[in-house]
Amino acid sequence: MKTKLSPSRKKIRTNGNGASRVSRSVSSKARRMLIDGEWVDAVSGETFATYDPATGEIICQVAAGDKKDIDRAVKAARAAFESGPWRKMTPSDRGRAIWKLADLLEKNLEEFARLESLDNGKPLTVARVADVPLAIDLFRYMAGWATKIHGSTFPISVPYAPGARFHSYTLREPIGVVGQIIPWNFPLLMAAWKLGPALATGCTVVLKPAEQTPLSALRLGELIREAGIPDGVVNIVTGLGETAGAALAAHPGIDKVAFTGSTEVGKLIVNAAANDLKKVSLELGGKSPNIVFEDADLETAIPGAASAIFFNHGQCCCAGSLLYVHKKHFDKVVSGVSAAANKIKIGPGHQPDTEMGPLVSEEQLNRVMGYLQSGRNEGARPVVGGGRAGKRGYFVQPTVLVNTKPGMKVVKEEIFGPVVCAVPFTDPMEVVQAANSGIYGLAAAVWTRDVSKAHRLASELRAGTVWVNCYNIFDAALPFGGYRQSGWGREMGAEALELYTETKAVCVQL
Ligand code: ADP
Repeated sequence: MKTKLSPSRKKIRTNGNGASRVSRSVSSKARRMLIDGEWVDAVSGETFATYDPATGEIICQVAAGDKKDIDRAVKAARAAFESGPWRKMTPSDRGRAIWKLADLLEKNLEEFARLESLDNGKPLTVARVADVPLAIDLFRYMAGWATKIHGSTFPISVPYAPGARFHSYTLREPIGVVGQIIPWNFPLLMAAWKLGPALATGCTVVLKPAEQTPLSALRLGELIREAGIPDGVVNIVTGLGETAGAALAAHPGIDKVAFTGSTEVGKLIVNAAANDLKKVSLELGGKSPNIVFEDADLETAIPGAASAIFFNHGQCCCAGSLLYVHKKHFDKVVSGVSAAANKIKIGPGHQPDTEMGPLVSEEQLNRVMGYLQSGRNEGARPVVGGGRAGKRGYFVQPTVLVNTKPGMKVVKEEIFGPVVCAVPFTDPMEVVQAANSGIYGLAAAVWTRDVSKAHRLASELRAGTVWVNCYNIFDAALPFGGYRQSGWGREMGAEALELYTETKAVCVQL
């Protein structure tokens, strides 16, 4: 799926015709990339189009970076790491620069929310209260860490050196130059999750935003410069995954690659990085079980289950896409979630009353429609939704599927759209087994009034996050990431810093 470009993602050279199709406030000039503090075109001079998913129209052209541009950016990041002012900056000054970036983002919150809504399709109202504030918070959280990354001392007792005395300690050093490849579902927030820990630890970065949604990362690049983060510390190369992304993952000049996206591409990244054994962290897909027990408070569980899958149009790696409901409440929960789905106001992200926008791209629309068809072919039945909404743009109806069987594609695979499979259960042990049986392990949720049951289940579910009586609760302090094929390592929290530092043991004989 990822190796083939849909027509909507093909590279297009800049030409005069683009101007008349440009949407709203974004200008027709091709967006340039940020390399070594300069805004530059791709070496090839090529560009690609980014689209408004609500209409399918071109917003603007963006520089199509490839191997040569990645190489330039990696060299700039290497120079900034080895000999630039970044290295000499005190942790306090580094933290201040990150904090300033957060302040600038806050000052421009509305602009970022609009850009995000335009490029990704998400409701402006959501980008305003979730995407941008979470990104601001992440930078502030990581700014605080800049002064608190340190090693330890160790009283050692080397058995083969009787009588010798040592002073031993560890240093936590930045891992070096990091290649960061991010997806389109939360474009700004994913940039923040990646850049925050890299900057706090003193690394330098080549960031490649998703080709579907490059605009907020490029605007962030302007703020990065304004915040006084030195040239070359953050380089932003726009381009396609198969060219720029692949070149970045394979580049011998980077020390680590951090990726968020599909499990399928995650495996390609691992292969590309294997050649020189660069460090890899991955935040990948999921098929997250959301379990409503017999003793759940349905007043909160029903809207919770609806928002678990329909938030961000189901385009969340942790979307609650497998809804297990105790048999006693199955009909009530299914009809409640279906009623919620029916009420969702679908429309372009910029309209104030829109609750669900379009999917991000034609490719994604086709993918989700393919899953809906496959579900029907295999015997699943949509209680609500089940098709495309409207003819223009990439809108899909929020959908609840029943009559599913464990082996079906819609049950096993990540759909990444507003489609939930509702499955009845009676035995709690069996449901935990079913929840743990897939290839993923990103998130899970349980709805119950029984506190000890909640904690027991939290420990039994094999997932990086377990929500109890809530869903989609994120905070910069809480680590996020996956078990099994949902990834390696954690984003956010102190855990993320581990992935951006090397530990050096120093041993001094006294
Ligand atoms: P999604 O399934 O959410 O579209 P992808 O995994 O395809 O996610 O994309 C996430 C990011 O990975 C994007 O920035 C994309 O350009 C990049 N990407 C896609 N294919 C590759 C590849 N072969 N090598 C490196 N990066 C890639």
